[in-house]
Amino acid sequence: MLPFYCSWMTEDLRIFADSVHKFIDQEIEPHYVEWERKKWMPREVWNKLGAAGLLCVDISEDYGGCGVGFEFSALIADIFYRRGVGAVAGGGIGVHSGIVAHYILNMGREAQKASYLPKMATGEYVGAIGMTEPGAGSDLKNIKTSAKKTDGGYLINGSKIFISNGQHCDIIILACKTDPAAGARGVSLFLVETDTKGFVRGSKLEKLGMHCQDTSELFFEDMFVPDEALLGPLNGGFIAMMQELPRERMLLAVGAQAACEGMLDITLEYVKERNAFGKRIADFQNTRFKLAELATKIRVQKAFVDQGILLLAEGKLDAATASMAKLHTTELQGVVADECLQLFGGYGYMTEYRIAREYADARAQRIYGGTSEIMKEIISRELIK
Ligand SMILES: Cc1cc2nc3c(=O)[nH]c(=O)nc-3n(C[C@H](O)[C@H](O)[C@H](O)COP(=O)(O)OP(=O)(O)OC[C@H]3O[C@@H](n4cnc5c(N)ncnc54)[C@H](O)[C@@H]3O)c2cc1C
Repeated sequence: MLPFYCSWMTEDLRIFADSVHKFIDQEIEPHYVEWERKKWMPREVWNKLGAAGLLCVDISEDYGGCGVGFEFSALIADIFYRRGVGAVAGGGIGVHSGIVAHYILNMGREAQKASYLPKMATGEYVGAIGMTEPGAGSDLKNIKTSAKKTDGGYLINGSKIFISNGQHCDIIILACKTDPAAGARGVSLFLVETDTKGFVRGSKLEKLGMHCQDTSELFFEDMFVPDEALLGPLNGGFIAMMQELPRERMLLAVGAQAACEGMLDITLEYVKERNAFGKRIADFQNTRFKLAELATKIRVQKAFVDQGILLLAEGKLDAATASMAKLHTTELQGVVADECLQLFGGYGYMTEYRIAREYADARAQRIYGGTSEIMKEIISRELIK
């Protein structure tokens, strides 16, 4: 693709980018196709990510992070998606470092931060977040998993579904009903170690794409957690989730943008090599116009994503803008995947070709982290308030 200006790139980020690329060259790319085929990424990858300093980078050094800004987190997402190994970054690192660690940092008590964040930064502990249930995904205030007050703590009963890192996780943030009659005001968050009695890991779910990422069902059967497991204020969980979601959505937008750029790059290479009717696929006007249209949309979108990254780094990103970024980038990712796959012809449909995996992986981006329809709800609510 045409080289273009990135408003948040610095010399430090460039050096960091080299180390991320090197890590992918050595530890991810040689194994990725095999992990996708086996539908499993080994647990040690988390320790390797930690050892390479790629986990929880934007958490302060006091808690094991690197104390750098959001741009560094964004750069990790960008490079993993751009290199076509986004399944490791999206549900994996994104959930662990970009979501779970920040909930603990922003809402946790000192003891929670001190005991969990350093372990998350090294990869000794893997984090997950359980909001979605079989009966409630978009409509989070209607979750049924309950946390009933008992002596010295809470008894948690219920289940969660589609949980990223569900098989590997050592700690999980669980959204539970603590006041079933109070709707959104009756939801609380708990930080739970997964070796707690009553925590039952369900199966790893079969997905359309992102096969090596472990997405699971989880069950809680009279699971006792102490009072200290409460994360943030009692009944304050819904507000906390709303406050933290813009970060998650911005990270997804960064990944989607990079995936678009990566797909365009590999398609440009392919159409220059493949011939039909005595000329390169790149020489058909249809190919050139399609690629020109996609490149224009991707480049225009890049400016908005870059702005969002800087706004978040400055603590100024509002929920509607984050939703616009997630909506636009993930929708375009679907279009780019489809149009680029078409230019690969039959090879594009073969899973050994990266574009086929990108096509399947892109589909989830419009669903998790809030569906495109929910993004439109949030944006329109801000417009028509
Ligand atoms: C690969 C993957 C990983 C995931 N990881 C996690 C995770 O780590 N943790 C977690 O908690 N969840 C996770 N999820 C769950 C994800 O966040 C939910 O699937 C998503 O929020 C949608 O919820 P739902 O599946 O229940 O769909 P529903 O809420 O049942 O929605 C079904 C359809 O109705 C539409 N709809 C719903 N409400 C409205 C409305 N008000 N207006 C218009 N349309 C509406 C939706 O947009 C959708 O098209 C993951 C999902 C996937 C696929």
